[in-house]
Amino acid sequence: MNSEKKYIYSFEEGSLDLKPILGGKGASLGEMTSLGLPVPSGMTLTTEACNLYFENDEKLPEFLKEGTKEYLKDLEEKTGKNFGDDDNPLLLSVRSGAIISMPGMMDTILNLGLNDTSVQGLAKETNDERFAYDCYRRFIQMFGDVVLGIEGYKFGRTLDILKEEVDADSDLDLTTENLKELVDQYKNIIKDEAGVDFPQDPMEQLITAIEAVFGSWNNNRAIVYRDAHDIAHDLGTAVNIQTMVFGNMGDNCGTGVVFTRDPSTGTNELYGEYLLNAQGEDVVAGIRTPQSIQTLKEEKPGVFDQLVEVTETLEEHYQDMQDIEFTIENGQLYLLQTRTGKRTAKAAIKIAADMADEGLIDKEESLLRIDPEHIEKVLHKQIDPEADPEVIAKGLPASPGAAAGKVIFSADEAEKISEQGEKVVLVSLETTPEDIGGVIASQGVLTTRGGMTSHAAVVARGMGKPCVCGCEEIKIDFEAEEFLVGNRRITKGDHITINGGTGEVMIGNVEMTEPRLSVESRKILKWANEAKELGIRTNADNGPDAKKAFEFGAEGIGLCRTEHMFMAANRVPLVQQLILSESEVEKEEALTELEPMQRSDFEEIFTEMKGKPVTVRLLDPPLHEFLPDIVELVEEITELKYAEEDNKEELNKKQKLLRKVKEMNESNPMLGLRGCRLGIIVPEIYEMQVRAIFKAVVNVIKEGVEVQPEIMLPLVTHVNEFKRLRKRVDKVAEEIMVEADIELDYKVGTMIELPRACMTADEIAEEADFFSFGTNDLTQTTFGFSRDDSESKFLHHYLEEGILEDNPFVSLDPNGVGKLVRMATDSGRQTNNDLKVGICGEHGGEPKSIALCQEYGLDYVSCSPYRVPVARLAAAQAKIKSDRE
Ligand code: PEP
Ligand code: MG
Repeated sequence: MNSEKKYIYSFEEGSLDLKPILGGKGASLGEMTSLGLPVPSGMTLTTEACNLYFENDEKLPEFLKEGTKEYLKDLEEKTGKNFGDDDNPLLLSVRSGAIISMPGMMDTILNLGLNDTSVQGLAKETNDERFAYDCYRRFIQMFGDVVLGIEGYKFGRTLDILKEEVDADSDLDLTTENLKELVDQYKNIIKDEAGVDFPQDPMEQLITAIEAVFGSWNNNRAIVYRDAHDIAHDLGTAVNIQTMVFGNMGDNCGTGVVFTRDPSTGTNELYGEYLLNAQGEDVVAGIRTPQSIQTLKEEKPGVFDQLVEVTETLEEHYQDMQDIEFTIENGQLYLLQTRTGKRTAKAAIKIAADMADEGLIDKEESLLRIDPEHIEKVLHKQIDPEADPEVIAKGLPASPGAAAGKVIFSADEAEKISEQGEKVVLVSLETTPEDIGGVIASQGVLTTRGGMTSHAAVVARGMGKPCVCGCEEIKIDFEAEEFLVGNRRITKGDHITINGGTGEVMIGNVEMTEPRLSVESRKILKWANEAKELGIRTNADNGPDAKKAFEFGAEGIGLCRTEHMFMAANRVPLVQQLILSESEVEKEEALTELEPMQRSDFEEIFTEMKGKPVTVRLLDPPLHEFLPDIVELVEEITELKYAEEDNKEELNKKQKLLRKVKEMNESNPMLGLRGCRLGIIVPEIYEMQVRAIFKAVVNVIKEGVEVQPEIMLPLVTHVNEFKRLRKRVDKVAEEIMVEADIELDYKVGTMIELPRACMTADEIAEEADFFSFGTNDLTQTTFGFSRDDSESKFLHHYLEEGILEDNPFVSLDPNGVGKLVRMATDSGRQTNNDLKVGICGEHGGEPKSIALCQEYGLDYVSCSPYRVPVARLAAAQAKIKSDRE
């Protein structure tokens, strides 16, 4: 076996740059040790050692056992304690530590090294026999659970029975004798359940514990977590073996978690929780509700000062907000871990903006710190201030945003019900890592126990899900599937709303408002505008959407889909009349009525965009989309035929309609009579639309508002299509200009959404003023995948099996569709220097695709209004990164 490679590091040998093998926790313990911070000594077995463990049939190879023993000697020297000693025993914690943090997903063992004799050594050393046996019983339980796989409730039940027998309200009421008895009972559980004696040899304890923690990399909840967070399954975890310090040796001891800034709001003040006289996982497990870190200032000012000093050192060193685990042993602070703190989207934005203002990082770094998706998350729904909800309880505001749904009490059921399309709120005592699937499936989470750093809070914040924690007024009866709050009874399936920003729990589905951008978001977006090169436009086809997008910073409309204007209920009959008319008069009548409607839509949009360019696409979809469904028509005709009353006239009308609809039916309409082909075959429609556009331009200009109209022809595949239609557009524009006696500036361009258009982009660009890549259709036609059906029929399988890495309808395919975009842009610009080039498919709002658009040299991206802020930040990041290459 490869014994030359280094698989074990003491903390003194560790550092941040070794994170890929030491894991996050190991690297941070090393880094903190070199910074001279108070870290209990220890060592790390690397992630590569974890892989060796799996290769070696889930056993630690001999040479690693020997290596561990060597490092242990070193640890004994440093601490002056001996492992398994009867007088002064060295006790250890054994913890997992992956490269990418997976909070609570893998296992931990504390107080390792205790046995029937060393427990007495600990009692002597600390002068506290009760404490020693308390540690021993905790250790046996953890060892039984983690190493021997005995279910935790078996120990919990025994503890509860004993408490009842001796009339103890809490664990703290148990006497030394009670704890000794518990130790015996726990040993019996181990014997009964695992068929072995609890091991007395500390070395055996250590080796089996290391193996169990390595093994926990592949437990179910860790696998689910990695799947949900796209973490590779072959990374492995490191194992950290560290000298124990005790937070449970009395009231001058404690344990806690502190964030250097508030991870929920981003406010620059210490934020966290602690418990006095408690050990290890008590805080995060949510078993006792901890106290706010601000209380520590009054309760233990000396410790608080130490905390302030180390948090400042750490934040300055890492230049980012830190999440720190600490223990206080007899008034002395020890650090057990630091990592970059998970934060809500809102906090991420505030922290990045504040740190740039404080001079800790520069603006570019601040822009790169924020996940563009965070910008969309802060556009979270909030409770409508006008709403007057009935608040039934209040817990801790653990993760902001409002969520409403049916009350469900189990994570599994939450998953099932949400798969049926129902919105659910998961209500639980506390969540455990096993509940991760249910948390993902829920709109929000409500727990009755646990603090702001409990598992539910941390996981929900990471996902941007609203969460209310520690809502103790709520009493859940799991058997009856209901909860009581005061006299109120809420049963499974009832609707509630939670507000993760205030901690409120409300009855029913409360009205929510559209979110707004915070001061810091605006600041970040302003910096993004200074840094970005790409223009950001929006896809909007009505006044309100245009207004919203303008507020979010859209620099124009990149796609106004005019068919949406035809689909309004009162217009469909007119459109049908237009399509089905058999006489010119009938057709003319429909067009005359439709034109002013379209004109007023355009007037509204142009007015909202206040002089920014607006690209209006002429009608694109197949006409049958406006016609009645054939099957429904047949059913109606059948009913009429068999009806008792006389309905001949109606029947004739429907039969005629059916004949017409059948005539127009195409077996492949997406490749049929649509787009510019429609404009060529039924010219009156495009002519009406162009007239409406230019008349609207004239009217809006008369009102003193500037307009930059851009007419876009869809689905062009041959330059001759474009030439013919452009001539008609120019003719109508000329007529309107003469009529209104005004000179208008306008552009005529095309969507590039078919491979042939890409291949002949040079020819088309000679005639067109702009290109806009319709990457939805271009992806459909390049892959030959239906954009309507492929995702549900086979694409998900392709993605699961890794045949495709990304969904090409979501993220632009760089090797195929992207190549066409690049090629068409370059060849188009060769024949037309002034050609403006944009993208208006869904990819225009997706960060990875936006980076490609930057690389291809496009002028702008266009996306839905709510993606505009995301696109602004993604465009800035793309530019900064490309400059750094
Ligand atoms: C496209 O095809 O990318 C596009 C923007 O047009 P639509 O989605 O309307 O077909
Ligand atoms: Mg299209």
